[in-house]
Amino acid sequence: MQHLYNFRMSELEQWFSTLGQPKFRAKQVFEWLYQKRVSSIDEMTNLPKALRQQLKEASALTTSRELTHQVSKVDGTVKFLLGWPDHVTVETVLMPHDYGNSVCVSTQVGCKMGCTFCASTLGGMIRQMTAGEMVEQLLYSQRMLDEKEQRVSSVVLMGSGEPMDNFDEAMKFIDIINDPNGLNIGQRHITISTVGLVPGIIRLADDGRPITLAVSLHAANDELRSSMMPVNKAYPIAKLMDACRYYVEKTGRRISFEYALVGGKNDSLEHARQLARVLKGLPSHVNLIPVNYVPERNYTRTGQDEIQAFLEELRRLGVNATIRREMGHDISAACGQLRAEHAGLV
Ligand code: SAH
Repeated sequence: MQHLYNFRMSELEQWFSTLGQPKFRAKQVFEWLYQKRVSSIDEMTNLPKALRQQLKEASALTTSRELTHQVSKVDGTVKFLLGWPDHVTVETVLMPHDYGNSVCVSTQVGCKMGCTFCASTLGGMIRQMTAGEMVEQLLYSQRMLDEKEQRVSSVVLMGSGEPMDNFDEAMKFIDIINDPNGLNIGQRHITISTVGLVPGIIRLADDGRPITLAVSLHAANDELRSSMMPVNKAYPIAKLMDACRYYVEKTGRRISFEYALVGGKNDSLEHARQLARVLKGLPSHVNLIPVNYVPERNYTRTGQDEIQAFLEELRRLGVNATIRREMGHDISAACGQLRAEHAGLV
């Protein structure tokens, strides 16, 4: 069975040619899938009946079903959990902002990176998400917005999983949602977030897609970072920063750095100064994130005053930084939590 959401348009054209179909049929199908967002092949009424029959036998549209759905009373954030026939689940978050709607997509079921503060990695990595499964996460979000005549304006690959550990599928997903015959989401409105896998950063730099790169740094000295993020042992800060400088040179784009503040761990003014030193000369933006509480993890959050002091110290040293607004904190705060809570659902 072919998964129709798993094709770039060029790939759909190729597949159609093996079915003896002309190229323009692929464009028609793409429009049905992404512009009209039909839920069955029968609704693709400008295709000949015989082709519809052929497609019904050889391919599928949506392969997941929605298991839970929560809406924040505070800010309208929607968090939902999708389940697939092989009993895996991932969560997706739709966030309404004043500037538009952003969707946070999961790229793997679980994660193998082992960051000590993260819920997604607790059970390890179960399997990769295909591009088509990522597309489904986005289409659920877009269908919710269709009721309000709104569209997804930006996408972040920041749900569960490490997108650079699923590089090809992540890029395919980006190509599919970016296609002007489909959802037409601009590449500049797509952000890929990485734990800091250096080969992936270099590949992205060489690749030329003008998407935004976010790097989860969380600590600016190796000892501390390795204690929070095992990946730092393979790609320590100096190597990571070399890759980041290469990325900036190649693309001319600045990099976002994520820094989750964990009480008493990485949140002192000295840590802020270390961060400023590491980022010196690099076009960057730092997002300070008050760490989300994960019941299985043992740590505290940094107080508001200390967060503010950390921010001011960074700014004093010339670092471009803001505190990330928390969304949906009344609905299963941290990444991976919804999935962990509903482990028995499928
Ligand atoms: N693997 C990728 C993308 C998924 S994680 C990455 O590491 O960037 C998305 C972001 O959420 C990362 O910055 C991650 O470090 C952060 N994160 C994970 N657990 C968190 C928690 N409990 N509180 C705040 N941020 C967290």
